[in-house]
Amino acid sequence: MKIPHLKIILFGTVLFAFCPRLMSGEDIVGSEIAPWVPGMLDIHQISTGRGNAGLYIFPDGTSLLVDAGELPRKTPRQTPDRPDGTRPAGEWIARYLRHTLSRELHPVVDYALITHFHPDHMGGISGSQPKAIHGDYQLTGMTWLGESFRIGKMLDRGWPDYAYPKAIADIATRNYRSFVRWQSAHNGMKAERFLPGRNDQIVLQRDPVKFPHFEVRNISANGEVWTGVGRETRQHFPALADVPPADWPNENMCSIAFRVSYGKFDYFSGGDLPGIPQEGYPLWHDVETPVAKAVGPVEAALLNHHGYIDSQNGFFVGTLRPRVWIISTWDSGHPTARVWQRLRSERVYAGPRDIFATDLHPGTRDVVMGIEKLASDRGHVVLRVAPGGGDYRVVIVDDASESHVVKKIFGPFQSR
Ligand SMILES: [Zn+2]
Repeated sequence: MKIPHLKIILFGTVLFAFCPRLMSGEDIVGSEIAPWVPGMLDIHQISTGRGNAGLYIFPDGTSLLVDAGELPRKTPRQTPDRPDGTRPAGEWIARYLRHTLSRELHPVVDYALITHFHPDHMGGISGSQPKAIHGDYQLTGMTWLGESFRIGKMLDRGWPDYAYPKAIADIATRNYRSFVRWQSAHNGMKAERFLPGRNDQIVLQRDPVKFPHFEVRNISANGEVWTGVGRETRQHFPALADVPPADWPNENMCSIAFRVSYGKFDYFSGGDLPGIPQEGYPLWHDVETPVAKAVGPVEAALLNHHGYIDSQNGFFVGTLRPRVWIISTWDSGHPTARVWQRLRSERVYAGPRDIFATDLHPGTRDVVMGIEKLASDRGHVVLRVAPGGGDYRVVIVDDASESHVVKKIFGPFQSR
């Protein structure tokens, strides 16, 4: 008897038997990264060689893009463009999002956030960037995203007046503000200033009732830091009138920091916050210390300021004491030798830890002793937190092309 669909049935059975990841979200080295499935928390640190870009997919599918950097110029200190230089970073990021979100989710980025107004986080302007199809602004970094997605809510540290500690009037921020104005007026985007202390500014949009143990807590912006109690905050910077303008807080010090919690799992991201004041500057230029007091221990953290010379002070490292550190690297000073020592030191905190970099510069390899102990020195770093937040893996995804192929898998690690 001829069974016409036997081959199809057999093929389907084989496919099902050998591809359990299609059903469970499990990843296999050498295969494309498995799609996000409801209940998971995915945090992608995207490798572009041009700055920071973090895509978060929350357990109900709500999405958050944190930074979309695009350094306009390259020097030998900087890493190459990833996947390559044929497209601007903003376009690569938009394509990454389209691939990652389109399979399960709507073509909407629910939240976008700029930690601070520097080109490697927001997008810079060098004169060669194309103009937006509709609005009166150029396409670079974050402003590219508006060409591909509707952004639900845009959060930054400056809206609406962009005036702290003084008018933020550089060409890239002016361009970004034109983008915010146009998207707000014509594309339904809401713009808000990020408010420290709050846990209701970034929330689950699709099914919050199903995930009561999920929270995004706003920790700091413009020197206003959550105290850890209720919604209470404290201004860490002195009143500007009491400080000579040369000592005023700089852009990095004003960075947005937040914590994402899912059950026992906690993750920290703090832009380019410094923790070690430059010689001759006031001690309050250390913003990491009050931030660490508010945040406490976490499972995983993105390094502040790419691991640069003024970041990751001992108190901050020892207080957060994560199992997993992720470094967004694009310069030979990412990370510096002393930062690397502190991250690795069992004197600063006990226990195992793994450190992942998006793209280590070859010069860093020559200068930083022990840097070969990085768990991974290249690729998109994807944290995949299991439903409920009890454990998580780190998945390294190829950044040489748009294959989205898994190179390495670490974990599972247990949340504490
Ligand atoms: Zn930066």
